[in-house]
Amino acid sequence: MIYVNQLNKHFKESHVLQDVSITFDPHITYAIIGSSGSGKSTLLRCLNGLETPSSGEIKIDDINIFESKDNLAKARSNMGMVFQNFNLFEHKTAIENVMFALIKVKKLSHDEAFKTASTALDKVGLSHRYNNYPHQLSGGEKQRVSIARTLAMSPQLVLFDEPTSALDPEMTIEVLKVIKNLVKDGLKCILVTHEMSFAKEVADMIVFMDQGKILEITPSEQFFTQPVST
Ligand code: ADP
Ligand code: MG
Repeated sequence: MIYVNQLNKHFKESHVLQDVSITFDPHITYAIIGSSGSGKSTLLRCLNGLETPSSGEIKIDDINIFESKDNLAKARSNMGMVFQNFNLFEHKTAIENVMFALIKVKKLSHDEAFKTASTALDKVGLSHRYNNYPHQLSGGEKQRVSIARTLAMSPQLVLFDEPTSALDPEMTIEVLKVIKNLVKDGLKCILVTHEMSFAKEVADMIVFMDQGKILEITPSEQFFTQPVST
């Protein structure tokens, strides 16, 4: 379980997260929705320690992730994140992008890393793209490489931050299909998305944020038929 307790985040004078409390159950898929600037990315970034909250705590089971560097490192090693603009190395091929952290962080041998990376690329439908550089790939393919890179690290949980918002509609469909299949196969994730039909289909629970606050945490089918706050 991830316990977020009374989380606040300030950037100078702006109060971006305001007393945010939520428990994420690992057996449940969450979609976080809300208008731009409502604090969705900041919440995800706090969850994996890319941002340090101004106050409040995040616990994974009974471990407070901001209590020590070790705790944070451990939490991070179990969590993957997929960003909206892919963050691939431009001078590395698809497979090299996926292999990089396996070698650097997981300390796998070249051969082991290749094997793990190819399995991950195959899983997102890119078995024909191992040796292409990012500039030779479509946006949808780049995002799938970035998803494969995350999967290859075998995280317990993946945070998706608007994974399709930089893509045109056709590529959006292709990437959403990949994510849907991963979730169906048991991938645990928290998704920030503005794709409502996707959220409805994939998520068990909808978290609705507005102006730095969580206004609703509602089962998906209920949210889309009888929302409390809209
Ligand atoms: P969302 O993902 O819901 O669009 P964000 O979490 O990205 O919202 O941002 C929430 C607010 O915090 C916005 O007003 C944004 O401008 C501000 N913000 C986010 N990151 C920073 C930062 N590093 N420095 C200053 N302000 C930031
Ligand atoms: Mg955002």
